[in-house]
Amino acid sequence: MDKIGVWFTCPMSNYLQDEVAKRFKLIKSWEIASKTAFINHHSKSIRAIVGNGAYGADSTLIESLPYLEIISSHSSGLDQIDLVKCKERGIRVTSTPDTLTDEVADLAITLILATVRRICACDQHVRNGLWKQQDFKLTTKGSGKHVGIIGLGRIGSAIAKRIHAFGCPVSYYSRTEKLNSGYKCHPNVIELATNCEILVVACSLTESTYHIINREVIDALGPNGYLINIGRGAHVDEPELVSALVEGRLGGAGLDVFEHEPEVPDQLIGLDNVVLSPHVGTCTMETRKAMADLVVANLVAHFSNEPLLTPVV
Ligand code: NAP
Repeated sequence: MDKIGVWFTCPMSNYLQDEVAKRFKLIKSWEIASKTAFINHHSKSIRAIVGNGAYGADSTLIESLPYLEIISSHSSGLDQIDLVKCKERGIRVTSTPDTLTDEVADLAITLILATVRRICACDQHVRNGLWKQQDFKLTTKGSGKHVGIIGLGRIGSAIAKRIHAFGCPVSYYSRTEKLNSGYKCHPNVIELATNCEILVVACSLTESTYHIINREVIDALGPNGYLINIGRGAHVDEPELVSALVEGRLGGAGLDVFEHEPEVPDQLIGLDNVVLSPHVGTCTMETRKAMADLVVANLVAHFSNEPLLTPVV
């Protein structure tokens, strides 16, 4: 019998590709010149998609695969998958939550401390030999600063737990109030931004969280405030963020995600009050392996008629 075809939307780790290829027919979509012709010829065998947070499955791809049964996403964010279409078609969707929570929360804390203490500028000061001419300028203290978190889900809660250990009061805004969290819940983002010094974006990207960080929120955070984004680039109105940083209306920003990745606005490059990382929230060998194992385990469970490990739809 022919192996089940698994459509990969983009290149992923060799480990994940090898593990899938051991059990299924791995289809590398990026190597196919004419996708339409290929799909027409092989549509019956393509029963699964593996995508990630950047390359998911839109309605066009889903509609082109009539025998599709499952999308196993190598991500916790599902904003690149047409979940409505999946529900309509009865296509199962799985993600990789929990495997990556600690890693992304660690990066959020790293960005907070690196941004307020200007660690990247400090590093440049030493590397460029400037220390011999003058000491680095004073920065500001991280411990004790009031931290506001948008989205108290898995990652948001893990950030809250960590930052609490730095003596930082934590409050949040989320879709639903977390009554047992012990943190103060604000009714909207403006109120959260007005009442914190460091605002961390950790919610999922949906229509209602698109550009949740806009000019009004940035102004509420103010010139002594810091924005940290480990969610998705489209949570932030990027031109508004850039002008606020350039004009000194915002104290600084630590950004792992950008609106048009891998493009980063030129103006950010020259600013020493920003710390930029190239969407590396989950990028450690340990976490990527755990995510890959879960992607494969969900595929295997589905095609063995076993319960999915981490179903979303
Ligand atoms: P999660 O457990 O599902 O948490 C998502 C949180 O977002 C939930 O608390 C949810 O609120 C909240 N939310 C949803 N819609 C909202 C709205 N309209 N207003 C306010 N809050 C809203 O997911 P997670 O694992 O923590 O991941 C969160 C996001 O992080 C992912 O969706 C992904 O985009 C991003 N991420 C980034 C990286 C990276 O490399 N930088 C890696 C992994 C994930 P409720 O609890 O009330 O539903």
